[in-house]
Amino acid sequence: MSDPRTLLENRLDKLREELTRTAAAAAPVELDQTAQGRLSRMDAMQQQAMAASLAERLRTEIRKTAAALDRVAAGTYGECCRCGDEIEALRLAADPATPFCAGCVKD
Ligand SMILES: [Zn+2]
Repeated sequence: MSDPRTLLENRLDKLREELTRTAAAAAPVELDQTAQGRLSRMDAMQQQAMAASLAERLRTEIRKTAAALDRVAAGTYGECCRCGDEIEALRLAADPATPFCAGCVKD
């Protein structure tokens, strides 16, 4: 597995880029009909709502990834934030920012 810091930093960059794009799409629906092109106002509002919920998920993921980077800096990366045991390698491979071991996520 590659260095977790590099992995997490790359992920954070991608998430922030995606959030910038998504936040633009989540901006309030423009009332000027010409700015909406072929989209009806209903479609535009639905797309805006979807973008807003995606932006919320991205913000959560960004906080989680930034917290994982803090743990890399603190030298505690890979330790479960709840029980302190080592987080399973497979879990970290699937989600490098995960703060908990499999046992702690289950309860
Ligand atoms: Zn644990």
